[in-house]
Amino acid sequence: MSDYPIQLVFDDAVAIIRDVAARHRLETETLPLSRTHGRILATDIDAPIALPPFDNSAMDGFALRHADLRADETTLRLIGEQFAGRARDLAVGEGECVRITTGAPMPAGADTVVIKENTRLDGDRVVIVTSPELGANLRRTGEDVSPGERVLHAGYRLTPARVSLAASLGLASLPVVRKPTVAVFSSGDELIEPGLSLAPGEIYDSNRELLMGLLRAEGLEPTAWPRLPDDPRQVEIALRDAGCAFDLIITCGAVSAGEKDHIPAVIAQFGQVHFWKVRMKPGMPVLFGSLDQARVLALPGNPVSVFATFLGFGRALIDALQGRLEPRSVERAQLVAPLEKSHARREFLRANVFCDEHGTLRADPNPAVGSHRLRAVGDSNALIVIPDGPQRLAAGAVVEVLRYA
Ligand code: AMP
Ligand code: MG
Repeated sequence: MSDYPIQLVFDDAVAIIRDVAARHRLETETLPLSRTHGRILATDIDAPIALPPFDNSAMDGFALRHADLRADETTLRLIGEQFAGRARDLAVGEGECVRITTGAPMPAGADTVVIKENTRLDGDRVVIVTSPELGANLRRTGEDVSPGERVLHAGYRLTPARVSLAASLGLASLPVVRKPTVAVFSSGDELIEPGLSLAPGEIYDSNRELLMGLLRAEGLEPTAWPRLPDDPRQVEIALRDAGCAFDLIITCGAVSAGEKDHIPAVIAQFGQVHFWKVRMKPGMPVLFGSLDQARVLALPGNPVSVFATFLGFGRALIDALQGRLEPRSVERAQLVAPLEKSHARREFLRANVFCDEHGTLRADPNPAVGSHRLRAVGDSNALIVIPDGPQRLAAGAVVEVLRYA
């Protein structure tokens, strides 16, 4: 496997991920509304009712007939009250009005609401001090949504606003795509659990928490597996075990060309390699494959490579498995400092993205070099994407940024 020649360009690798994952789109489940937050909607939704469902008042005041209003003050007879809630059997006749509150159904006969502040009470009479326009302070049936109108789209994420829209239409449940189950593996004999003491040559496992956090930020509930030792048989047993039980396996480490990098051979022997090695920096040895029922994204071990490959490929894979069609918003920012590269690979650089006093998004690259330098990731909030091919970018040039914080 170590002489595996193919080095894909980044966009082709994303296309392969989308293609393979689309063929393994997860099934639909119908969940009560309260459990649908953050999920991907599985079918289009057409409004079963109008919104608002009935003509109602936009303000607290009095419902009246506009034709009764005079040029100067008008005095009307108060015949009842209609508060927000069930409609009472009230009809406003000539010279009459009904006390009304915001959201209350308009009584028959009334066509206008005068706000309380523009009236004066005089016993059972209401004096209209300032006359409203015809139809003022009314919310009309269906002005927001007509029955049958498409309001939610398959493949879109259910944000709080969209879930509440479904609730306002009376929908108690929604069909959503099942979330992928994810197994997370760190690998390497040098890795030690935080809290234990280090022998010379050992380091603490930092990628596990990085991946667990990134996956949780995607709304998933990943399962961390025990660390994989650099032993081919143990790698095989653990990955094949996870391959039977999870939709997605994410590993980090042991995926490049070293003597102890056993993951590519295991996937090739017991599953399928869709791609291995992408023209990117950092993260070049990334592998995407399938093993039993799971898709496998094997990320390189360097912490910054994990970041770049997860943001670049992990998110695309999670989206495609759930049939997400709504594109994620692409953010761009102006470089604070010039950047140059001579190699052909797409490059990802840590940076601080902020909005300056003129409202312009700016990206300040972190000077740290080396994909092992996690501190620079912590000090930053985004990765700058420098396009494929040699680049000479002046300060002020616009680049894509992937925000992670
Ligand atoms: P590898 O891809 O296994 O050759 O690992 C590349 C580098 O990343 C090595 O310096 C590893 O020690 C380091 N590394 C691998 N996995 C982790 C991890 N889980 N946490 C921190 N560093 C890691
Ligand atoms: Mg290793």
